Amino acid sequence: MDTITKAQRSKLMSRIRSKDTKPEMAVRSLVHRMGYRYRLHDKKLPGSPDLVFTSRAKVIFVHGCFWHMHRTCYHIPKVRRGFWKAKLENNAARDKRTRQKLNRMGWQSRVIWECQLRNTEKLKSKVRQFLG
Ligand SMILES: [Zn+2]
Repeated sequence: MDTITKAQRSKLMSRIRSKDTKPEMAVRSLVHRMGYRYRLHDKKLPGSPDLVFTSRAKVIFVHGCFWHMHRTCYHIPKVRRGFWKAKLENNAARDKRTRQKLNRMGWQSRVIWECQLRNTEKLKSKVRQFLG
């Protein structure tokens, strides 16, 4: 038996779902301004990638540095450290598996990290290098 109502569940889910987050919106608009066109969250692909460039067979994920354990800037909270460590490492492992799956299907993928939004020029050249 469910102990939470439908409304409670959908509220909870909307908080869990990381769609339309600020970094993602920023990347979308940047890439769009650069003239690239893409689809969003293709559920048919592993990990339902944030930006999908179908004709190029390429996808971009926008990752928050904390939740996806960006090597250069993540930190594990001191409180409930074991819990967080397991949770974050699990996220990172899942990301890795997702990208391997995509690769086997013939899709190239790149991750844009939240912190990379601080340097727009550098980010643009990364995007251009990836998409051509
Ligand atoms: Zn970062």
